Amino acid sequence: MEIIEIEAIPLSHSLDEGRGVGSARGIHTTRSTTLVKLKTADGSVGWGEAFAPARTTATLIEELFADKIVGMDPFAVESLAEESYMEGYHFGGSAIVQCALSGIDVAMWDLIGKIVNRPVHQILGGKKTTSLTPYASTMYVTEWDQDPAEPIERAIEEGFTAAKIKIGRGFEDDIERVRTAREILGDNASLMVDFNGNYRPKQVARSVENLSEFDIAWIEEPVPPENHSGYRQVRDLVDIPIATGEAHYNRFEFKQLIDDRTVDIVQPNLGRCGGFSEARRIADMATTENVAIRPHVWNSSVGLAAAIQFAASVPKYPHADYIPEPLLFEFDRSKNPLRDDLMIDSIDPTGGVLEVPQDPGLGISVDEDAVERYRID
Ligand SMILES: [Mg+2]
Repeated sequence: MEIIEIEAIPLSHSLDEGRGVGSARGIHTTRSTTLVKLKTADGSVGWGEAFAPARTTATLIEELFADKIVGMDPFAVESLAEESYMEGYHFGGSAIVQCALSGIDVAMWDLIGKIVNRPVHQILGGKKTTSLTPYASTMYVTEWDQDPAEPIERAIEEGFTAAKIKIGRGFEDDIERVRTAREILGDNASLMVDFNGNYRPKQVARSVENLSEFDIAWIEEPVPPENHSGYRQVRDLVDIPIATGEAHYNRFEFKQLIDDRTVDIVQPNLGRCGGFSEARRIADMATTENVAIRPHVWNSSVGLAAAIQFAASVPKYPHADYIPEPLLFEFDRSKNPLRDDLMIDSIDPTGGVLEVPQDPGLGISVDEDAVERYRID
């Protein structure tokens, strides 16, 4: 079953004036991404998402990959990474190449699922998983003067039982935000905090100490992603699970995080880390070393659907049911029509349970008219 056509589609949506959202690292005023659409001779279509600067990534897919993809059998998907390193000897491992590769890889797995009539999580060898526990990724740093209680109250109304909030802009602000969230969520909800790499190790230690009464499930990206020695220092300074990975790429970077035992949870993004093929390698390394894996999601609905399929395939091993550890799945609650509008049926995280689509491939139907509305090439 040959691929006869590849299209890279850059998408962008500008948020309303003054309504940018972000983290301690800064504010975003647009949401953008690149979709990948593959077609086979029998008319099957596979969708993927490369989560990187939209037009640049689309051009890179055209220039570097398109000629190789046309004529390729989607079942040869795992040769793509090899190609990227062999032919892209001097640059194949770089971030944007890996993002482009991710989009193509996910689209190929979507096709494979449609050809064999199975959802991707089953093909990846996962058990028949039907649901995940979504957590609200929320309480962003906002361009407008938002009451921090408001997004948490909304998360509760939507039925979330867990939330992750942005901190990292100063010790007092950290305490205020976490106290607000914990008071609204109650004692039983899981609460995580995300520094987005904005502190130095000793600042992380001080903030974690200040937050000790609030029962934080994990701290995320306490120091910048490139700062491996900083991660080791944080690990030695604090007694709390550490998560990272949304800004890391491919098996080699994750291998270092896992081998060095710098983190307790790795968070590959399916649109960046190298797609399903690479995420599976990362999951194998992580679970072998008893490191948890929870995908990062800030994508369009295509990357979101890919992350759901991947999360549903991740083994609980080595833990048994005696340790109740729901597979907490990130669900971004900031405004993003690329997440909410691109599907015929949008993915609904409300009610505290996220159903894993059981239809073939990613289990989604893309609304191509909606895709055209956000297209920017
Ligand atoms: Mg994060």
